[in-house]
Amino acid sequence: MSDLLIQNARIVYPASDGFVIDRGWLLARDGFIEAIASGDVPSERLLTVPKGYTSIDARGMTLLPGLLNAHMHLYSLYARGISVGRESRDFLEVLRDLWWRLDRSLLKDACWMSAMFSGMDSLRCGTTSIVDHHASPNFVTGSLSTLSDALVALGVRHVLSYEVTDRNGMQQARDGIEENVRFISEVGQQKGLASGMVGLHASFTVSDVTLQALHELVGSRDVGYHLHVAEGAVDEQDSIGRHGKRVVQRLADAGLLGERSLAVHCIGVDASELGILSRTRTPVVINTMSNMNNGVGLPAMRDMVTSNVKVGIGTDGYSANMFEEFRNTLVSMRHRYAEPSGFWSEIQRSQFEHNADIVSHLTGRTVGRLEKGAVADVILLDYASPTPLTAASAFGHVFFGMSADLVDTVIVDGRIVVRDHHVLGVDRTSLEKESMKIAKAVWKTFDGLT
Ligand SMILES: [Zn+2]
Repeated sequence: MSDLLIQNARIVYPASDGFVIDRGWLLARDGFIEAIASGDVPSERLLTVPKGYTSIDARGMTLLPGLLNAHMHLYSLYARGISVGRESRDFLEVLRDLWWRLDRSLLKDACWMSAMFSGMDSLRCGTTSIVDHHASPNFVTGSLSTLSDALVALGVRHVLSYEVTDRNGMQQARDGIEENVRFISEVGQQKGLASGMVGLHASFTVSDVTLQALHELVGSRDVGYHLHVAEGAVDEQDSIGRHGKRVVQRLADAGLLGERSLAVHCIGVDASELGILSRTRTPVVINTMSNMNNGVGLPAMRDMVTSNVKVGIGTDGYSANMFEEFRNTLVSMRHRYAEPSGFWSEIQRSQFEHNADIVSHLTGRTVGRLEKGAVADVILLDYASPTPLTAASAFGHVFFGMSADLVDTVIVDGRIVVRDHHVLGVDRTSLEKESMKIAKAVWKTFDGLT
């Protein structure tokens, strides 16, 4: 059981309805926040805490809710430093040259190590929850449990899915669906850090036959779908050409949209598709750094917001750093729309409210909020504030003053998982040694694939 008391913290909840407590305390029982208040913890309150609880003197550090990454690919780890050997001319070539060769090169050890290193990177950046979209076509069955084992060992809250696709044959598409269903059943019985949803790569690599198999295998289970939508122009072109309808319409007709699903990217969608996303209350997750890196354009966030679509933010595996990501989301939107004062409150809500709503829906717990009953996932930053820090100015301090390198302590589920910038419970030197061996094997396989 994780009972925890943090004292002498500057408590900052940078949501639009947030608050700042200059010096206060937070008490967590069994992994959930029980109380947050200013001043010193009353002695009668201490008497109610079971013996053996963990006590932290924050020494004036700033406490924030742990950051949430609403779209991640842990498996992207071994792309770091890889030699692709080709120059990709468009998005489809980026997929064929890099990602669809890398995912076929990953076996069990590489999947586990990817989750370990990407998970450690995330924690060190203050990210406590990850919504991941996984692919390892030559190790499908059991892959989500392998990732989950690593993330549980680290103490990262996670929602996993396997990206179903036809691109490696129909049997493997079926294996992918079964892996999603298997993992959802496995974690459904537990009350731990793991949750599941059903992943689909993207409309353009999924046939109607696979959608039919999805219906049969998922059955009446109440699940959310994690979908790449119109990331590159190829997705809309394929859907219109082969199915006579736009991507979002196709996904809606297949029954894949809804409050617990995620439509990721949505760069090429039109007004009719935003209308469908709004009516079905399907959140969109945007990933602007990845989009710019791939040269695929930027999502129309202004149109999404005015269409009443909930917009969350993810990194798409480009990095593990949500501070960097939401900062870039704001400047990229100001650049796209030539609005030097725009998007301030939109980005604040996307990062600190919409991502919280998304992860809360997917996990069945209140995540990403500083309130009684929410999970005790918080971070302590060694931040010196040069100007008044109030509820009104809090997001300004988070945006311009705080960063991943200030994250000193990370707490997930009421347990300390990072202290003094170090991820606890791991032998980094031996992991590094082992990972380098795996990288060489992965890259050798990668080099042999076309
Ligand atoms: Zn993605």
